[in-house]
Amino acid sequence: MAQHHQFEVVIVGAGGAGLMAALYASRKAKTAVLSKLYPTRSHTGTAQGGIGAALGNLEEDHPEWHTFDTVKGSDYLGDQDAIEFMCYEAVPIVYELEHMGLPFSRTPDGRIAQRPFGGHTNNVTGKPVRRSCYAADRTGHMILQTLYQQCIKNHVTFFDEFQVLDLIVVNGAAAGVVAIELATGELHVFHAKAVVFATGGHGRLWEITSNAYAYTGDGIAIALRRGIPAEDMEFFQFHPTGIYRLGILITEGVRGEGGVLINDKGERFMERYAPRVKDLASRDVISRAMYIEMREGRGIGGQRYLYLDVRPETVNKYAELDGRTRPDGSPYRVTAEEILAKVPDIIDFCRTYLGIDPLTQPIPVQPTAHYAMGGIPTNKFGEVVIDEHNTVMPGLYAAGEVACVSVHGANRLGTNSLVDILVFGKYAGLRAAEFARGAAFQPLPADAADFARSQLDRLLHSQGSERAADISRELKATMFDHVGVFRTEEGMRQALAKIRELKERYRHIRIQDRGRIFNMDLLNAWELGNLLDLAEVTTVSALARTESRGAHAREDYPQRDDVNWLKHTLAWMCQDGIQLRYKPVVITKYPPKERTY
Ligand SMILES: Cc1cc2nc3c(=O)[nH]c(=O)nc-3n(C[C@H](O)[C@H](O)[C@H](O)COP(=O)(O)OP(=O)(O)OC[C@H]3O[C@@H](n4cnc5c(N)ncnc54)[C@H](O)[C@@H]3O)c2cc1C
Repeated sequence: MAQHHQFEVVIVGAGGAGLMAALYASRKAKTAVLSKLYPTRSHTGTAQGGIGAALGNLEEDHPEWHTFDTVKGSDYLGDQDAIEFMCYEAVPIVYELEHMGLPFSRTPDGRIAQRPFGGHTNNVTGKPVRRSCYAADRTGHMILQTLYQQCIKNHVTFFDEFQVLDLIVVNGAAAGVVAIELATGELHVFHAKAVVFATGGHGRLWEITSNAYAYTGDGIAIALRRGIPAEDMEFFQFHPTGIYRLGILITEGVRGEGGVLINDKGERFMERYAPRVKDLASRDVISRAMYIEMREGRGIGGQRYLYLDVRPETVNKYAELDGRTRPDGSPYRVTAEEILAKVPDIIDFCRTYLGIDPLTQPIPVQPTAHYAMGGIPTNKFGEVVIDEHNTVMPGLYAAGEVACVSVHGANRLGTNSLVDILVFGKYAGLRAAEFARGAAFQPLPADAADFARSQLDRLLHSQGSERAADISRELKATMFDHVGVFRTEEGMRQALAKIRELKERYRHIRIQDRGRIFNMDLLNAWELGNLLDLAEVTTVSALARTESRGAHAREDYPQRDDVNWLKHTLAWMCQDGIQLRYKPVVITKYPPKERTY
């Protein structure tokens, strides 16, 4: 028998989005947070570079410029009403975090420090603007610590190391979740009036990734199994600067501080691809440029990596050539000590994992799978919408990387995920609590835990001989090779055939550990099932979209096609395969135009 619990609002996920939702929900409703990781180990903690907000602390800036940059960065696929809402809300939310005690880095006169980031510009000059509010290169860590403390203060109940396996739906409304307690292997039913999914992304689908082991797309996979569609899954961001072979992220903040990308000939090649903003173009543009450089033989030593150079002499050389100045108008010059103070963790990562010192040596980098633009469809209040008419599903909310509002469209700008998790986490929590106050608990079915139990039992008792590790390795390599930075119909068809073969093999998987306590063998196998479902949805959605837009770059359809493809994909997982339908993009102020940097 499963243990039963009852809360008005249940939040799945304790990253920035989940904690922000919990903070706001707990002011009005009895709230619980379930997390498969201890909260402060959530992926938000790794966010380095900062939160985008047009505070204008160092130079002129406006939320309207932030809005336009985000629309343009999204390659016009983002919904403009939601983007505008987010960019205006970003400013008060940063001050709110400051008042909660988040230790932001400071300007000499004590205001929140800001630095440039890719795609964020002064809309008059087109030059990079300092918009990213940061706490050295530990911004996400500080967000998590700050919000976790606030949640504890607000009496949020935490169920740490509880992995949610299923969503309970009654009469078309969310009525709770089923989770396994990792320490005991017991199933628990959480009865709720409102459920918020804040489970993060699914970057473990690709071989080279900046994402941690936990990023297995559980929230989207659970929702798909309950008939909820996934939106815009073909758009997955590859960040330009992952450490070669390891994928560990080198924040764009390094380029914000003046670092440049260099090819084998010693050229700062981004000058050719983005003459105005160069190394601070948006991520999709830079990742493609890097692939082209490597394909044309200008990778370092002919290999599949390039250099990110943040040595003071290099930074100063290019800052002088660019005519870059400090806020007081003096020439921009840096010392090794200043770089170390601005990005201490990055310097440390390179020393630890590569054995090189970025203050005296360039860093070998390659594009790394990084961020899911697609996810569970929501409106700007975090309410989950389940069709092309934006019909709201009662009691279900989603926020953060698991959700698709859509504010990132086809490509996210750096620093906009932290804004997203804070703004939409807040509104999802508020709405969930308001809904819960006015709603009754749905009666729970007697068999609420059965589906979750049957999934685990099938894995535990399978007598097959397939190994999860083999399927996982082949899946990731397939996705990286064929559904990565560049895509073709032929490659994606091969990938789809392989994914379907792997799904069949997955049915014959064998779990080594048959125990109950912390059975990570079992749970990793369950997560692999999620990744396989997401791989199929991603590839089917990508195959159908016969254009190039943002992170979805097709060599066989190299142009953006606004006539046929200015629309969001919705994908359902049905008995007979993946079904696709489409819904329009919300355009308010900015008609689509050519995107250059
Ligand atoms: C290295 C790195 C650096 C980044 N830097 C920046 C940056 O500087 N600026 C920026 O804007 N963005 C940045 N990003 C992106 C940003 O950090 C993430 O998109 C964002 O933090 C996601 O927050 P979240 O709350 O949605 O998810 P997470 O913080 O990942 O939280 C997900 C939560 O869900 C829980 N969970 C997942 N599945 C289950 C389940 N089945 N049951 C129970 N719990 C579950 C996890 O335990 C976790 O608590 C960076 C990303 C990476 C990888």
